[in-house]
Amino acid sequence: MDAKTNDKPDLRTLPKVDELLQLAVQANVRQDAPRAVLRSAARRVVDALREDLKGGKPADMSKNALLFRFEKSVQAQREHSLGRAVNATGVVLHTGLGRAPLSQAVAKAMVDAAGPCALEIDRDSGERGHRDHVVSELLRELLQVEDGTAVNNNAAATLLSVNTFALGKEVIVSRGELVEIGGSYRMPAVVERGGAKLIEVGTTNRTRLQDYKSAVGPRTGLIMKVHTSNYRIHGFAEEASLEELVQLGREAGIPVVHDLGSGLLTKALAPALADEPTVAESVAAGPDVILFSGDKLLGGPQAGIIVGRRAALAAIRGNPMFRAMRLDKIIFAALEQTLRIHLEGEAASAIPALERLNLTFETLQNRAVALAAKIAAAAPELGADVRESLSEAGSGSAPTIGLKTACVTFAHRKDAAASFAQKLRMSTPAVFARVRDGRIWVDPRTLAPGDDEIIVNVLKSIL
Ligand SMILES: *Cc1c(COP(=O)(O)O)cnc(C)c1O
Repeated sequence: MDAKTNDKPDLRTLPKVDELLQLAVQANVRQDAPRAVLRSAARRVVDALREDLKGGKPADMSKNALLFRFEKSVQAQREHSLGRAVNATGVVLHTGLGRAPLSQAVAKAMVDAAGPCALEIDRDSGERGHRDHVVSELLRELLQVEDGTAVNNNAAATLLSVNTFALGKEVIVSRGELVEIGGSYRMPAVVERGGAKLIEVGTTNRTRLQDYKSAVGPRTGLIMKVHTSNYRIHGFAEEASLEELVQLGREAGIPVVHDLGSGLLTKALAPALADEPTVAESVAAGPDVILFSGDKLLGGPQAGIIVGRRAALAAIRGNPMFRAMRLDKIIFAALEQTLRIHLEGEAASAIPALERLNLTFETLQNRAVALAAKIAAAAPELGADVRESLSEAGSGSAPTIGLKTACVTFAHRKDAAASFAQKLRMSTPAVFARVRDGRIWVDPRTLAPGDDEIIVNVLKSIL
């Protein structure tokens, strides 16, 4: 401790917040911003300098350096934190970047709904209606189910299902399907918080129909089959099919819920994701309720889609928790438009997530060559080239499948790749790329129209 005292940085050299503000007035730096913004920007600069000093980093406290940091801090504070970003990672459904990218048509539907819209009014009669009735009708038409609705996300849909069918009762789930999706979302905890008791059956790798049969009793409220979205069990493995569970549920008078997660409607929409189960297959098996996300392979906004039998949906709508998980009008507008695109048979090309998953290697290679040439012209020192790699579906969809792609890679002679990648992330718009083998990798698969130009401009401004 004593030795350290001598090394203690001299914090007296730090400028005071008011001194920095005064400096900015004198130099007329960002005096257009409101006083409160300027003050908190100045405070952040002083805080950051203090951290630098404490961490033993050299802190430049010249007038110019202070004003430069101050100006950046004001700018950062006024920038929209959820402004446009570039996804160059090659992960199509990137949870960190907001999962499914929405099309212009869907974005327009959201803007149109921003003002007054007929959310809960039947236009024909002028009477009060239900906010989910259009989405319900579209789901029925699209999936040939008896009824459907949507809540905040699939996690909410799962919790709601458990709570509706098994409050104070038991939920039977295979030990091979007790998934953790991320964060604190773990199936056993969801069942418990839904007010039910989890009955685990089978083993991690093998669960048979007989295991479920033995567990069914007077206290059983629900049989749940969960798609193991983000992992696969290979080798000596066996599971009861959804058809078998539906049959068992019918015989025992117990509802069966299929938590499908990813929500790929049909195989034809993304043929490369060969082992991804589809909503169509699940509907054919006939469980009482099927759950899937709106922002995974459906390619729409965040939502939890609930489809299935009329009586089951009526029970779900009757649960007071349903109201607590309902969607806002902007999301309903986006979901409606997404479902219309599917219904019109345009999804494979007009839903950006699906379009990107389906891009061929040849197309990607051409795009990569074109982008590499633009980067080489604007910044020859980066040594841009084209290299083969694999893209991913992301968000736990088809976790074992890599999609062949061609990336633009580059590196800066003096700046390490991780540090250069940070500069890309901190740019406006923010650019998110992968770092591998000491280089930055830009995968054209996940780029939106116009992103090439943004990347070139951002590189120019960094250099
Ligand atoms: C992704 C997933 C969830 C969670 O869905 P959110 O829409 O992110 O809440 C639940 N169950 C399964 C099987 C999933 O794949």
